[in-house]
Amino acid sequence: MPTSTVDLVVRNARVVTPSGTIRGGVACDDGVVVGVGGDATLPAGEVEVDAEGNVCIPGLVDPHVHLGRRDAGYPDQLEVDFETETRGAVHGGVTCLLNFVEQEGHYVPDLDFFRDVGEANSYVDFGYHMVMSHEHHIDEVPALAAAGVKSFKMFFNMYKYTDIDIEPCEADRVERVLSQVAEIPGAVGMFHAENAELQRECERAARDSGRHDLRAWADASPPEAEAMQIDQIGHLTRFTDADSYVVHVSSAQGVEAVERWQRRGVQVTGETLVTFLANTVEDDLGVWGKVSPPLRTPRHQEALWAALRRGVIDNVGTDHIATSKEQHELGRGQHGPHLWEAPPGIQPGMEFLLPMMLTEGYNRNRITMERLVEVCATNNAKRFGLYPRKGVIAPGSDADLVVVDTDATATIDDDFFHTREPRWSSVHGRDVRGLPTHTIVGGELAVADGELLVEKGGREFLAR
Ligand SMILES: [Zn+2]
Repeated sequence: MPTSTVDLVVRNARVVTPSGTIRGGVACDDGVVVGVGGDATLPAGEVEVDAEGNVCIPGLVDPHVHLGRRDAGYPDQLEVDFETETRGAVHGGVTCLLNFVEQEGHYVPDLDFFRDVGEANSYVDFGYHMVMSHEHHIDEVPALAAAGVKSFKMFFNMYKYTDIDIEPCEADRVERVLSQVAEIPGAVGMFHAENAELQRECERAARDSGRHDLRAWADASPPEAEAMQIDQIGHLTRFTDADSYVVHVSSAQGVEAVERWQRRGVQVTGETLVTFLANTVEDDLGVWGKVSPPLRTPRHQEALWAALRRGVIDNVGTDHIATSKEQHELGRGQHGPHLWEAPPGIQPGMEFLLPMMLTEGYNRNRITMERLVEVCATNNAKRFGLYPRKGVIAPGSDADLVVVDTDATATIDDDFFHTREPRWSSVHGRDVRGLPTHTIVGGELAVADGELLVEKGGREFLAR
């Protein structure tokens, strides 16, 4: 029987561990897990959390977040987003995130800023992916990797025909990034996969038809545009012997393309978004459902769930972006002809990731709790060099834990979210079944029964 007291103990839980789900709890001290086992084997805690028989899982790791988007203006935007959006994250059970950084200037001179602003304002630990949005960024890959940023995002070849200030990556630039990725252990090339030419042609046809509903937006970027680009990613990944990650796979054709390259032994992994698992083009969302790539039909959604179950899609993220309702609706309401002009975006994804995975996944028996933990936590940590520090409950891992009541219910309304903009989301009005009751970050009880118990800051930049 252990005698010394530790900082925090969760008891009376069903703990999801890599070797199975056990009855008992988790002991945490100095920010890390120091014991996992039956309640009688655990020491006393300064703080004791009674899980009341509920499930205890590792905190989720969101691999796809956009805090501080450039078009909203640095540096304040990043600072504000770190506070408000990660406040929502801890309420939702997300305890670690990887944020995309995109700017015109070089990244390396600003790395201290990116670390410091997060450490001062975030409620969770975080790492970065750098967007290769300008030619000179490609030369920074070795220095970024040395500083702990090992993932490099390319828009291949999306945005080619827009006025967005992101230079599209064509095969030449992709080759130059991936050939460097191939030389750096743990490095990964990340891709937005939509063929710009096919997309442009289909969007023109949809707009010319005078339609401005969500189906028109979906028709503007067909599944083939995604699959074609994934196939090129596969060729270039094999050619460079590199390692690639396709963000936000949205369609059955996209899944097939990822699987095709995996069968050939090429390192291509696929991520999908909780929004694609929770929403379809049939939802009456207007501009609230404008995401890129688009929401698709239920048939595609079922293909994504199936791909998650059989390990073709191994990662789930959110694409969380904080935009105000007015900014997203262009001040013209939820429905209307401004669909084509409205900015695409998904928010506040980090706070609905776990509730929707529980509601649409676990409670509809589309995914087991163990697989949910893999695709929302463990695999994301592994893919981006954070495992076993993150994504698992095991001795020595960071004490980031979530207690989940799989039967708790709520309705997602304007009071549900704790982010900066709680008034809109793709899941507004939905009833959820399955909610976090406690979130523990670094061994500290951060949220209990909806109440925030910690201050922002003091979290860590995760060099990988
Ligand atoms: Zn994104």
